[in-house]
Amino acid sequence: MPQITRIVRIHNELLGTYGDRGNADVLAFRAKFHGITTEIIDVSYNDEMPTNGNIYLLGGAEDAAQVLSLEAISRDGNMEFALENGAVLLAVCAGFQIIGESFYANGVEQEGLGLINMRTVPGQKRYVGDIKVKESQVGIELTGFENHGGQTILGEGVQPLGKVITGNGNGDGKFDGAVLGNIFGTYLHGPLLARNPEFADLLLARATGRKFTQIHDPLGAEYAALRRKLT
Ligand code: GLN
Repeated sequence: MPQITRIVRIHNELLGTYGDRGNADVLAFRAKFHGITTEIIDVSYNDEMPTNGNIYLLGGAEDAAQVLSLEAISRDGNMEFALENGAVLLAVCAGFQIIGESFYANGVEQEGLGLINMRTVPGQKRYVGDIKVKESQVGIELTGFENHGGQTILGEGVQPLGKVITGNGNGDGKFDGAVLGNIFGTYLHGPLLARNPEFADLLLARATGRKFTQIHDPLGAEYAALRRKLT
């Protein structure tokens, strides 16, 4: 287990539109209860990406901002290097779109990072509202808020994060997100980990190699249940 678990919050000045920066705060908060020491490293557009992060976080953004973020991430390939060496990635919405093969920004097709075999095309409408996901890879129902114009089509054999109960998810109303090894992509804002802290525990377990035998929710089971009901 790393002595300090490094949480790399990427380009909040670009990918901060939907408040996904809170995912880092929830990870740090949950880690403390598990006796894990964390450091949040804010990487901005001009910074070199660290290669020694344990958890990398990408958030949602407007089209132009997500293209700038992609450009900066592509500059050094350091995030991809870290992921190849076992680091964890949580990519939300615009962040999710840029890790695929391609996406559209302001009507123009862009080549993505190609970490997952999937592509995003302009959807039939803007998908805005509460979203609930079942049979998720986290083992619990997830709730969140979505707000995106892109529709994401997973390549053959790519595993979604879960099945949509309410909302649109990837745009087909059936599935949300994608999972490949330690890479997790989703359309859920909230921030996602504030609404689903068990997901934070899963990411921490993956990053540290620790097993949490039981979900430890310091805010109480009832509060957690209420949070899950809020869709
Ligand atoms: N700009 C992207 C879209 O509209 C992502 C939006 C977001 O991150 N919320 O699809």
